[in-house]
Amino acid sequence: MKKEYIFIGPPGSGKGTQTKKLSAEYNLPHIDTGSLLREEVASGSDEGKLANSFMEKGNLVPIELVSKIIKNRLLKNDCKDGFILDGYPRSIEQAQALDKILEEIDGKNTVSHKVFYFNVAQEKLIERLVNRRTCEKCGAIYNLKTMQLKNNEVCEKCGGKLTRRDDDTEEVALKRFKTYFNQTAPLIELYKNRNWLFEIDASKNIDEIYNDLTGAIKENVHS
Ligand code: AMP
Repeated sequence: MKKEYIFIGPPGSGKGTQTKKLSAEYNLPHIDTGSLLREEVASGSDEGKLANSFMEKGNLVPIELVSKIIKNRLLKNDCKDGFILDGYPRSIEQAQALDKILEEIDGKNTVSHKVFYFNVAQEKLIERLVNRRTCEKCGAIYNLKTMQLKNNEVCEKCGGKLTRRDDDTEEVALKRFKTYFNQTAPLIELYKNRNWLFEIDASKNIDEIYNDLTGAIKENVHS
């Protein structure tokens, strides 16, 4: 059975930090549509330009483009034993598209994922987002408020430059929350009804969350 893990949660809920760690420990590819789209934007392609016009406003990028990117990624050989999806699907429409894509890749009736929903109060999140910095080189994520860095501009893991994402301003973050609650949150009900959902209390600290997460994976629990 493939190990297929999906992570849903509002912006800043800590999915990126946890999924990167999980990916390294479980040797599964970490597939993060936000990063794949930022790569497309950085390439300067027409699709990147189109994606950016949605991303800079905190809106979802059109499903046709996201489905194409995800399908190409899931067809790669490193996904044959499973994968970790971080930030995809983000709407009911995308969840249905994912079902279809996986049926095409794996054949019918093999689709069953574990979905982790990172639940955390919105008040905590805005603060996390505006204080978030990402290493340009290795992708490590830091929070300037909760982590005491020697230098707020230098990655402590690889020495790369730390930058703030363009969409981590308060204004765009608020729009991203709105998009999340309108379009992504309905997935919680969808996956709960399929009995695939496991809720994680994402207000805990990084190590506690990771323990809860790996505990749930090992025990094969759904709630
Ligand atoms: P993230 O890095 O997950 O916070 O995503 C950054 C931005 O990329 C989002 O605000 C969206 O504009 C876009 N994005 C990421 N994932 C998706 C997705 N699954 N569907 C549509 N747009 C996405």
